[in-house]
Amino acid sequence: MRQVENLRRRLGFAVLFVTHDMSVVSHFSDRLAVMYAGEFMEIGGTRTVFDQPRHPYSLGLMDAFPSLVGARRELVGIPGNPPSLVSPPTGCLFAARCPSVTEECRLHRPELVDLDGHATRCHLVNPRRSDD
Ligand code: SF4
Repeated sequence: MRQVENLRRRLGFAVLFVTHDMSVVSHFSDRLAVMYAGEFMEIGGTRTVFDQPRHPYSLGLMDAFPSLVGARRELVGIPGNPPSLVSPPTGCLFAARCPSVTEECRLHRPELVDLDGHATRCHLVNPRRSDD
């Protein structure tokens, strides 16, 4: 990873990492996009997403991976499984695993909404207007 970072700085190209390892990504990226079931759930500056995650899936990921530099702590997995993409649910794709799910979430797929460069796809963060 250090060699890639050195090359990137020297030659000035961009690197796109696709990984499940949140602790690695936290040290080697400027921007972070959290994907779930083929959709972007949260996008923002890496530090912002790590320090102030908004989406319940991002919060779950933070609890599921050890920190490379932080204190040791018990890890907590995200219960359940991703939805079938052959026959996806009507509402939020994370609804079946989300601790904050509501009826609204099961009925309506949330949009990705950008607030000041930090985008989130969640009714909890961006409540639907009644005329949506
Ligand atoms: S829209 Fe609802 S189910 Fe989906 S992540 Fe947000 S709170 Fe959870």
